[in-house]
Amino acid sequence: MRKRIKINQTNLIFIGMAVGLAIGYLFPAFGSNLEFLGQIFIRMVKTIIVPIIFSTLVVGIAGHGDLKAVGRIAMKSLIYFEIVTTFALFIGLVVVNIIKPGAGVRLDADTSMPAGLTVKHHGLLDSVLNIFPDNVFDSAVRGDVLEVVVFSILFAIALTLIKEKGKPILDFCSALSETMFKYTGIVMYYAPIGVGAAIAAVIGSKGISVLLHLGMLIFSLYAGIIIFIVLILLPVALLFKVPIRRFVSAVKEPAVIAFSTTSSEAALPRAMEAMEALGVPRRIVSFVIPTGYSFNLDGTTLYLSLASVFAAQAAGIELSVGQQLLIGLTLILSSKGAAGIPRASLIVLTGTLASFGLPVQAVAIILGVDAIMDMARTATNVIGNCLATVVIAKWEGKFIDNAN
Ligand code: ASP
Repeated sequence: MRKRIKINQTNLIFIGMAVGLAIGYLFPAFGSNLEFLGQIFIRMVKTIIVPIIFSTLVVGIAGHGDLKAVGRIAMKSLIYFEIVTTFALFIGLVVVNIIKPGAGVRLDADTSMPAGLTVKHHGLLDSVLNIFPDNVFDSAVRGDVLEVVVFSILFAIALTLIKEKGKPILDFCSALSETMFKYTGIVMYYAPIGVGAAIAAVIGSKGISVLLHLGMLIFSLYAGIIIFIVLILLPVALLFKVPIRRFVSAVKEPAVIAFSTTSSEAALPRAMEAMEALGVPRRIVSFVIPTGYSFNLDGTTLYLSLASVFAAQAAGIELSVGQQLLIGLTLILSSKGAAGIPRASLIVLTGTLASFGLPVQAVAIILGVDAIMDMARTATNVIGNCLATVVIAKWEGKFIDNAN
């Protein structure tokens, strides 16, 4: 019974998307005015993120009491994240060098920087420092997932160490996490409208013609992502004996939410729920998904390597293989901070271009079509993170096959 309701809801979201597409195409002015309906959805989901991450991590770690396992899961996740994102980065580089989407584009010298995009580029030490919160309420207010994760893990370890005395807090967190999942369920009733409106706004304001302008860049990204899924994610899934069909049907809804809202945060609660329902233990889901949002943004990483070289191509700058690898190395670090919010990549891209003396004006050109590319990379981010939870669960021998 429960299952049927879920399937219907996923279908409703698909219908919402199709209706949004039609509205954006047929009534563009009306469609672009609908953006606020999509924003309402993203805002509502954002209220879930901090309490759900905190409570599920605390219950996952302290409820189990096995601190060694936590360390092991953390190590395995980080190894897996690094390997997979490095592949994503290389695929971006290979695709952009073969298709050369920037070759036909002329950078307009006086294109000024798009408003609202500031160059924010941290050095390595800053990036490491920024993982540690100095005030967890401030981290929560800013919605900094990684800082909340770090606090929650330490909190949970401490809670485990005080044993019986910590029970009231554990019970509280357990009730809090259940409440937040229920809360997610309520917000999801609105998802078809939010998702439809978000699509209507993109199509309505950019028009289908956006696909023609800078078409090669968009094509390269989509091609790269398909290659990444087929050559990396699929073999990984086969290697770890992931039940592919069931995985695909579980990941469908979070992926559609990510695609249409261009925010992987908007898909976070649903992604966690879906992976748990698939058979990944809560303590793995609650660790891997939030940390993956900082360290395992596959779509974003692929996009960033592709877009950096695109900018050089558009300006007629030849980059050697060594230079491209250096940019790649920088991106591996700087992309880690890319938050799961719409257009986050553009900010990282701006910083990277600036620090390598590449034309930052490329960002102004890309901005016009970025929404379409953000859709694909965000969905890839979410799919990659969901897969990571199953892989880690299988690797730990803790995947409970919930078939039937
Ligand atoms: N929008 C992406 C996400 O939410 C981040 C990006 O801009 O690449 O995952």
